[in-house]
Amino acid sequence: MPLDQTMQDRLNAIVGASGLIADTADMAPYLHEERGLYHGKAALVVRPKSAAEVAAVVKACAEAGVAIVPQGGNTGLCGGAAPHDDGHEVILSLNRMNKVRAIDPVNFTLTAEAGCVLADLQTAAAQKDCLFPLSLAAEGSCQIGGNLSTNAGGINVLRYGNARDLVLGLEVVLPDGRIWNGLRALGKDNTGYALRQLFVGAEGTLGIITAAVLKLFPAPKEKATALCALADLDGGAKLLNAARALSGDAVTAFELIPRIGIEMCAKHIAGASDPLSAPHPWYALIEFSTSRPNANIRASFEALLETAFEQGIITDAVIAESLEQAKNLWKLRESLPEAQKHEGGSIKHDVSVPVSRVPEFIAKGIAAIEKHFPGARPVPFGHFGDGNIHFNVSQPVDADQSAYLAKWTEMNRVIHDIVVAMDGSISAEHGIGMLKVEEMKHYKDPVELDLMRTLKRALDPAGLMNPGKVVD
Ligand SMILES: Cc1cc2nc3c(=O)[nH]c(=O)nc-3n(C[C@H](O)[C@H](O)[C@H](O)COP(=O)(O)OP(=O)(O)OC[C@H]3O[C@@H](n4cnc5c(N)ncnc54)[C@H](O)[C@@H]3O)c2cc1C
Repeated sequence: MPLDQTMQDRLNAIVGASGLIADTADMAPYLHEERGLYHGKAALVVRPKSAAEVAAVVKACAEAGVAIVPQGGNTGLCGGAAPHDDGHEVILSLNRMNKVRAIDPVNFTLTAEAGCVLADLQTAAAQKDCLFPLSLAAEGSCQIGGNLSTNAGGINVLRYGNARDLVLGLEVVLPDGRIWNGLRALGKDNTGYALRQLFVGAEGTLGIITAAVLKLFPAPKEKATALCALADLDGGAKLLNAARALSGDAVTAFELIPRIGIEMCAKHIAGASDPLSAPHPWYALIEFSTSRPNANIRASFEALLETAFEQGIITDAVIAESLEQAKNLWKLRESLPEAQKHEGGSIKHDVSVPVSRVPEFIAKGIAAIEKHFPGARPVPFGHFGDGNIHFNVSQPVDADQSAYLAKWTEMNRVIHDIVVAMDGSISAEHGIGMLKVEEMKHYKDPVELDLMRTLKRALDPAGLMNPGKVVD
């Protein structure tokens, strides 16, 4: 339903003038999606300041039949936070709900409102000598509500799990406007269904997360970071195994970077350069960390590299000597998507396979691209340690960008067929949003899809909570 003046007045009465954006120009940042794939319109942007205000807005919208698009930091990569084109939806932004409600360093928990920026929560935890381990390149702007709603992954999943593993309790406004207070800070709670997990990864289709109890860990006291040149891709899995064994499972990150990625970063990203003297086909960026003081983690790192050299798994390596050097190594990994933008169009695949099959998947993926899309340049990179590869494919040099991007669906099908044949997932950490609704329908077990639709209908019978996302 389009929004009439009475409804606008009702929302104004709930959130106040400063909580409402009706001007199209002021709405622009909320309508534009990170990759530029979706540009929608909205009737209004509403910015409540409390769970009670969120509940009142949702109730008013439910009564008037107005659809809601929940939005966090708007850094999602599947169009989940983007409104449709009809301009009838209300965007409900959580960005004014940004208080840390409590930190309990003995219980190792932090309770935060959904609009808290991820980096601010990491800082709040560090101030209590604790670690909140969720970490991703968008952490300066994405919000914890968005992280939970997309079940975000990032670079530390190998050691600490993804967002789903880091949440103990939730407060959620349901599609009818009721508030479910499930803000329990318990390590053990076996009182029936784990309802919080329904809302994690639901991308705002089942309700609006307004606060969460998150798990903390002891802060790391030592870290060591190295970039290793792999003799070949198979060496990646061997190196990961050796690293886990030799470090006493202190590996926090194990990221893959292809040669073309290093070249793109060195060419396009200010301050980025290849730290090794000769080119190599593949690199692993590894981080060890420990909360044990004086653990001399660097010694286990050196032992790993020595063994890996002797066994011919790696051919060169550089260990960061300072925080600054570690940052520079990470820059090569984290600025890769940005560097790729300078090379024209890039068709993305955020996929996962069992860790042991990552080398096989990449080899099959590259061969399929060479066969079906000659000249296109695969840039597979990412979270080797948890089996999640961003199999991005840059356009052929000097190709027409829009003609290349028109092959998006066709190329996705080629790569996703390989992934699914290897028991993998077509969306590892970015979610479904609008981008992958059809693709998920194509691949998912009909029974599983039916269960998902049953849940959606049970919680949101009118279909007003982020319609058209995840399930149709
Ligand atoms: C440079 C860059 C790097 C990235 N790296 C990673 C990475 O390593 N790993 C990874 O997993 N992702 C990554 N992402 C994707 C993105 O940052 C994550 O998906 C993030 O979790 C989204 O958070 P957000 O607050 O921006 O959510 P938004 O984009 O605002 O929303 C995402 C979805 O969640 C819903 N939503 C948002 N807030 C709420 C709420 N409070 N309640 C209910 N629903 C809500 C929205 O409706 C939408 O469907 C990256 C993105 C960028 C731009």
